[in-house]
Amino acid sequence: MNGTSLPSGFIKTIKKILKANQILTDPANVWNYGYDNSRRHAVPDMVVFPATHEQVQQIVSLCNKHTVALTPRGRGTGTTGATVPLHAGVVLSTERLNRIIKIDPANRYIVVEPGVTNQQVQNAAKEHGFFWPPDPTSSAYCSVGGNLAYNSAGPRAVKYGTPRENVFGLRAITGLGEEIRTGVFTSKGVVGYDLTRLLIGSEGTLAIITEATLKLTPLAESKRTIQLIYANIESAAKAVSAIMAQPTIPCALEFIDGNAIDMIRDYSAVAFPKDAGAMLMVEVDGSENQLDFSVEDIRKASQSDFLLEFKVANTKEEVDALWATRKALSPALRNISPKKINEDVVVPVSSIPTLINGLEALSKKYNIPIVNFGHAGNGNIHVNLLFDPDDEIKNKNAHLCLDAIFDLVLKLNGTLSGEHGVGIEKRDFVDREIEPVTLALMKRIKKEFDPKGILNPDKMFPLN
Ligand SMILES: Cc1cc2nc3c(=O)[nH]c(=O)nc-3n(C[C@H](O)[C@H](O)[C@H](O)COP(=O)(O)OP(=O)(O)OC[C@H]3O[C@@H](n4cnc5c(N)ncnc54)[C@H](O)[C@@H]3O)c2cc1C
Repeated sequence: MNGTSLPSGFIKTIKKILKANQILTDPANVWNYGYDNSRRHAVPDMVVFPATHEQVQQIVSLCNKHTVALTPRGRGTGTTGATVPLHAGVVLSTERLNRIIKIDPANRYIVVEPGVTNQQVQNAAKEHGFFWPPDPTSSAYCSVGGNLAYNSAGPRAVKYGTPRENVFGLRAITGLGEEIRTGVFTSKGVVGYDLTRLLIGSEGTLAIITEATLKLTPLAESKRTIQLIYANIESAAKAVSAIMAQPTIPCALEFIDGNAIDMIRDYSAVAFPKDAGAMLMVEVDGSENQLDFSVEDIRKASQSDFLLEFKVANTKEEVDALWATRKALSPALRNISPKKINEDVVVPVSSIPTLINGLEALSKKYNIPIVNFGHAGNGNIHVNLLFDPDDEIKNKNAHLCLDAIFDLVLKLNGTLSGEHGVGIEKRDFVDREIEPVTLALMKRIKKEFDPKGILNPDKMFPLN
């Protein structure tokens, strides 16, 4: 791999493909494109800003010819280091691939370039009475390309699915510089292998997405948001299974544990009872005249001797306060502890009580505070280990604790990441989840798409 400096033939040709204002090489400028929200950092040799599919194709072909590492980058909000250019080389920013190409309400799809933000898609779809279900909390900033490459989701996935369930097809450039088109423009289709789902979640290691046909969903007429407070985690976790086992599927089912409640109690606009051990936030959507029945369905399913409060938010202010509390959790942790390891493990919903009990036991064993919250309806729990990295013992214990957490998750038939991806952060654990034969097949697939290994090298898989 051509690392620290680019060959002169490469530089000469790239200046023919792109205008001067589409290339950065000054170390002070390229530095900014070397990090993401994992807080890891590496400095690329060059950052390029292609504005067309054709330019992307020419850049990839050139990198392939000279064996130069190429890291695609959306907005760098990812949390696992997948945009950090470990081998220097070229960072390809999709900022200028930012056009909405077509919106087709009659056939319920929108075609966009990868640099369009999630929020821009939502705004365009809303004008026609639609939305695109993937809704990461970072939607105002993050790009569709990043959403697809990480299969990023959010609360709505519990009812409407992740990008894998909400994309009709893609146009992309493989590591060889070849253009491929995957999928269809229809809501059904089974001709050929499903390369759309293969590329989604591949973290920029197989191909660079240059166009995406996103499946749109009609906006519901109305919503109700319900706050449920339980005395303990077990009863809240059992309610999650019960809610998910009846036909009124919530459009959000979020979970906050007692430690998280204590952490935000003082500055949240939501009043928590003193003995609150866990909170669920449930949202149901549909036509206005059916929502009272939906709320009743949730009430019945969530009953428990340990249910302390069942409150339907009646005003926009009350709904906003609930969501603000949930969304403030992740950034708040950064202020509370010098370091957090933020995992987004998933277990089958019926195993949530076992997971939470196991986490509590591990927290005690390793003396590391753990705060849990997340998208409980999918069994997707954000597990946050809080510690001071300068304290040698705590640092060591936190990593031993993390190791044990992954073992627990896999024992429960879970997976190591629901939506944040693998990147650099989790690559060393991947072979615990995927057995050798399957992993070897995945590596052969990577070789087919990208024989020289130029696309986002050393991400997603263990190094050996
Ligand atoms: C405050 C905050 C809240 C967040 N909340 C959530 C949440 O609720 N749910 C969630 O899932 N995530 C969340 N995230 C993580 C992050 O926002 C998402 O992973 C998001 O999808 C990343 O988009 P991005 O444009 O920043 O991508 P980047 O971080 O720039 O890139 C992510 C990956 O996509 C690849 N990539 C980018 N563009 C392309 C392309 N065109 N072709 C191929 N590969 C490409 C990159 O190489 C990299 O592997 C949050 C992050 C922050 C900072």
